[in-house]
Amino acid sequence: MSTLEAKGNWIGGAWRPSSSGEVREVRNPSNVDEVVGVVAWSTPADVAAAVESAEKAFRSWKNMPAPSRARILSKAADILAGRLEEVARLLSREQGKPIGEARGEVQRGVDLLHYYAGEGWRSLGHVIPSAAPGALMFTVREPLGVVGVITPWNFPVAIPLWKSCPALIFGNTVVLKPAADAPLTALAIASVFEEAGMPPGAFNVVTGPGSQLGDALIQHEAVKAVTFTGSNAVGAHIARQAAARGIKYQLEMGGKNAAIVLADADLDHAADVVISGAMRFAGQKCTATSRAIVERGVLDAFTEKVVERARRIAVRPATDEEAYLGPVVNEAQRQKVLEYIELGKAGEGKLAAGGGIPEGDLYARGFFVEPTVFVDVRPDARIAQEEIFGPVLSLIPADSPEQAIEIANGVKYGLSASLFTNDLTRAMQYIRDIEVGMVRVNAETAGVEFQAPFGGYKASSSYSREQGRAAIEFFTQVKTVTIAPAGGC
Ligand code: NAP
Ligand code: MG
Repeated sequence: MSTLEAKGNWIGGAWRPSSSGEVREVRNPSNVDEVVGVVAWSTPADVAAAVESAEKAFRSWKNMPAPSRARILSKAADILAGRLEEVARLLSREQGKPIGEARGEVQRGVDLLHYYAGEGWRSLGHVIPSAAPGALMFTVREPLGVVGVITPWNFPVAIPLWKSCPALIFGNTVVLKPAADAPLTALAIASVFEEAGMPPGAFNVVTGPGSQLGDALIQHEAVKAVTFTGSNAVGAHIARQAAARGIKYQLEMGGKNAAIVLADADLDHAADVVISGAMRFAGQKCTATSRAIVERGVLDAFTEKVVERARRIAVRPATDEEAYLGPVVNEAQRQKVLEYIELGKAGEGKLAAGGGIPEGDLYARGFFVEPTVFVDVRPDARIAQEEIFGPVLSLIPADSPEQAIEIANGVKYGLSASLFTNDLTRAMQYIRDIEVGMVRVNAETAGVEFQAPFGGYKASSSYSREQGRAAIEFFTQVKTVTIAPAGGC
């Protein structure tokens, strides 16, 4: 065990060890010999303590004027901006995101804090004409109570913040259970809120195994809503429990995102964007481009451009300034990606680039996978249907734009899709017919903006939307008020 001091949970405005005394090391996926930190491996009793702190804090946090809550979020934004490099390096070392993208993510966290601070100053609710003489009728939006926030490892600053900030600004209190693969970044966010003067208990973080802490969180009677981003299997489990308890829930889950390349597209632009969507952060974004569906007329030319770009990609340890593609997050994830690559090699496609583990000392102690491209992939192949979450792109030929959309829609997911064309009519047809929540034209499937609603169709989401002003719907409930003057006026 490392000599680093273990970081505790952030509960009720204090740093507390796990009630079992257990701790876990967090290692760097670019170099497993490096221990990045040590965290509490918590128990359901720790979750209960956090929920009780959040419950205790709720009334005064809810009754604080929203602009006062806004000032705390604004202050947190400034503090995180001042700590951008420190948090970005921690994120990059903890879960392998290339440092340039890690900086971008922390900046996004700063912007999210500013954006939701702004919500504390904006109007909420409506005045509605009443049929009763002289009466005033209006709606107010009230918080739900304690909100459970369960997040994945792939955006450990952005996702906890895009859930917690709206929860907090509308007056809810939060218990965050971050992914076991990225707990340190979540604790850094807690320390930012601590420095910003967040009242004790308004925001809490408990680190440890989701399989045990998740149930304890959702089952606690003080928890009134749960917002989750992660895999479909865990999402379905959460939905069942939340429905049984009658609490609100929101799920953002997997994707199998397609880029459609039509014959008239700017192929160099399309190739740049498709490679970026497929390979940056080793394809570990829910919005990553996993399939490119290409009209036959440009298939050879596009394939050549994509393969040439894939071969030039700089695979490096995540903190290397040159890194375009770092490691995948852990050994289990690498095994899963390599199994899909084997399926591709065994006949689901033809290997055109990559296909294994890169060789050399630089890669010997990390979970690296080569940027891999398969061509001639059948739309019903497993590599074209299932979420891989690795740097693997499948090229699928299409006979027409209509068929391309049909193939794009022929998966269980519906998160994000791109179309590359200069034909406005084709673009309009695609916008109408594509079954995804995030529709992009000549833009990457990834890289969506937080001030707009975010979420998927079909199995990618539970129909609710998060981010932007859509967050108001989930994190508040509506009270309709009628004031009738006694005796009329
Ligand atoms: P995951 O395995 O589902 O884990 C997500 C979170 O759920 C983690 O905090 C995990 O804790 C926790 N968890 C695990 N078992 C649980 C249980 N039984 N009850 C409650 N919580 C539990 O997902 P991941 O591997 O971290 O992330 C990858 C997945 O997330 C991919 O499918 C990806 O597409 C999806 N994702 C979706 C979006 C989106 O916005 N649509 C964005 C990013 C990622 P532990 O880490 O301790 O297991
Ligand atoms: Mg997992």
